[in-house]
Amino acid sequence: MTDFPRRILVTGGAGFIGSAVVRRLIGRGYRVVNVDKLTYSGNLDNLREVAGAPSYRFVEADICDQAAITALLAEENIEAVMHLAAESHVDRSIDAPADFIETNVIGTFRLLQASLNHWRSLQQNQGRFRFHHVSTDEVFGDLPFDGSSFSEDSAYAPSSPYSASKAASDHLVRAWCATYGLPVVLSNCSNNYGPYHFPEKLIPLTILNAIEGKPLPVYGQGTNVRDWLHVGDHAEALELILTRGKTGESYNVGGRAERSNLQVVETICDFLDERGPLAEGGSRRSLINFVPDRPGHDRRYAIDPSKIERDLGWRAAHDFEQGLLETIDWFLANEWWWRPIRERKYRGERLGSAA
Ligand code: NAD
Repeated sequence: MTDFPRRILVTGGAGFIGSAVVRRLIGRGYRVVNVDKLTYSGNLDNLREVAGAPSYRFVEADICDQAAITALLAEENIEAVMHLAAESHVDRSIDAPADFIETNVIGTFRLLQASLNHWRSLQQNQGRFRFHHVSTDEVFGDLPFDGSSFSEDSAYAPSSPYSASKAASDHLVRAWCATYGLPVVLSNCSNNYGPYHFPEKLIPLTILNAIEGKPLPVYGQGTNVRDWLHVGDHAEALELILTRGKTGESYNVGGRAERSNLQVVETICDFLDERGPLAEGGSRRSLINFVPDRPGHDRRYAIDPSKIERDLGWRAAHDFEQGLLETIDWFLANEWWWRPIRERKYRGERLGSAA
């Protein structure tokens, strides 16, 4: 008998981070039910290696469908919900915020209601149940270039429709704990990178454009700083938080790897040049194209991960440059995964200019 949940419902498990979580949990012997609506970023190819596992089940459903989620929680005797389903791209939230409110705010509310009713109905192991909300450091807003960092006590100050919707969902989750006693844990993580990353975000978009010799868009002067974490390290942290985290608490997750956007793009260019030159010769740095900045672009994010390091013994295992090189090699080796996305789902056009 374990004292932590073994039967887990993961929402958004066909996405970038959700699929890393599902692959990890299946590998570690959990029963996983993956609920995903399969929006443009949901992709069952991300789960090819676990699709046939007896302990894995995929259900195509919307988290806003409270009745469907309620039935699934009971049918599968679920002991924990790991909530990752979301609209996740800041640029898309600038162009079309409605889906972000619908899924990230209303969807989280419906999932909380379904989870609360399920938790109340549990006869046995009620104490083992957890609702884990996977959130972002972007809820804390914008840091100056002064060496400061976000702690778990940082004030909420979201800038984009995306981060505002995630801040709203964080508040709902805390309220369901304080008001109804639902056992929750939260985590706020910095920017992830790694395999199966949908090529709309900076790192995979730059890698694929650089492989294909296309222009590499950099917002503003490329001075904005992000704090990078390998998705495998994030998945490990999430398992620890779910199983060992203290109920009602939140954990900041980050890899102590601050880099400016321009540094990241230049590093990708240099690594790919080492792997093979451009057909027409010259460095891929010549493809860099400075474009008008994102409206409301936060200058800097930086996570102080001391709490999770101290309390749960977690630490990011990947060095950023090594992890980035491995990620580039993964994209070079897995054209079967990204070619259909580039041809059918997203070709790399500019999003979020608020034009
Ligand atoms: P993603 O866009 O790759 O995946 C999101 C998944 O959610 C997709 O599979 C999509 O189909 C699914 N989904 C969307 N709406 C749904 C709905 N209404 N019902 C069911 N499924 C739905 O996003 P990601 O980058 O993997 O992010 C996952 C979570 O982690 C998000 O909650 C995000 O806010 C958070 N997060 C992301 C980062 C990052 O760097 N990507 C950092 C910190 C936190």
